[in-house]
Amino acid sequence: MARSHWGLPILEPVTNLYFATMKTTSRLLVAGFATIVSASAWAEYPDKPITIVVPFSAGGPTDKVARDLAEALRKPLGGQSIIIENVGGAGGTLGAAKVAKSSNDGYTLLLHHIGMSTSPALYRKMTYDTLGDFEYLGMINEVPMTLVGKPTLPANNYAELLKWFDANKGKINLANAGLGAASHLCGLLLQSTLKVDMQTVPYKGTGPAMTDLMGGQVDLMCDQTTNTTSQIESGKIKAYAVTTNKRLTTPALKNLPTLEESGLKGFNVTIWHAMYAPKGTPKAVTDKLNAALRTALKDADFIKREEALGAVVVTDARLGGAEHKKFVEAEINKWGPIIKAAGQYAD
Ligand code: ASP
Repeated sequence: MARSHWGLPILEPVTNLYFATMKTTSRLLVAGFATIVSASAWAEYPDKPITIVVPFSAGGPTDKVARDLAEALRKPLGGQSIIIENVGGAGGTLGAAKVAKSSNDGYTLLLHHIGMSTSPALYRKMTYDTLGDFEYLGMINEVPMTLVGKPTLPANNYAELLKWFDANKGKINLANAGLGAASHLCGLLLQSTLKVDMQTVPYKGTGPAMTDLMGGQVDLMCDQTTNTTSQIESGKIKAYAVTTNKRLTTPALKNLPTLEESGLKGFNVTIWHAMYAPKGTPKAVTDKLNAALRTALKDADFIKREEALGAVVVTDARLGGAEHKKFVEAEINKWGPIIKAAGQYAD
């Protein structure tokens, strides 16, 4: 009999041998029994609080969608508590790496954005495998971005902003949520299309970056409407353009031009959010999570909050894990060459 290096017998090969010599019908019975046992082992899931890791600081757009979604997820998950853990830094890659290495029991999940697909191009050394280290649970929403400025910035519209760029070459700074974040991606494209160099100021999320923008410590930021709409409405920051190729319908944003119509041909950035579990999380659990996510995304309060901030809740096939993964793969293929052409790396 095989022995482990502590001298204990290794039982598994014997069990497998026994299994292999059984009659087919008995094997099917055993296999069926194993499936029932493993599924029923998760019948009570979740029976303790679930942690959703948000790879950015509290108060930013990713944190906001996570907290709103957590509310909507509670009921379909049997009323269990959902804890949001903010693990900001390195453009979202620290939080994603943490979940990739967490226990795959369904109690530690990741809510991340487009950074899942841009990090593989921005980082030459990744500490996790985007496509290989996660179970894909489904997409949540799509969110446009806005180009916004500090309240004391003299430019009042996009044309004036271009003039201000000309007059302030070498002195302009742009906040972002770390290299690899959506705000970084947008700022990167903005600088390379406009051919204006800006000093980037990284934060662990656009939550704290927004505080500094309102306070005038930084000049500009590209950020999601879920984080900028109310600040624009209340006049705490200035807004210059939207990053989508169509104007938005949200009342506070509908007069903003698109960057594309303002002369930046092909400029189109939409941020999306989605959920993941560590690779190997049992299917019984990922199925429950996917069903809960689908229910949560139909929650009228959640949809209302998203729409008021310019976000659109996903309703198409990307609600399923397989389509979600296909979409991320396509996004990796789309953004990789664009980021490489911009010649920037985060590390
Ligand atoms: N999503 C980030 C945040 O929540 C912002 C970003 O990616 O730019 O702070």
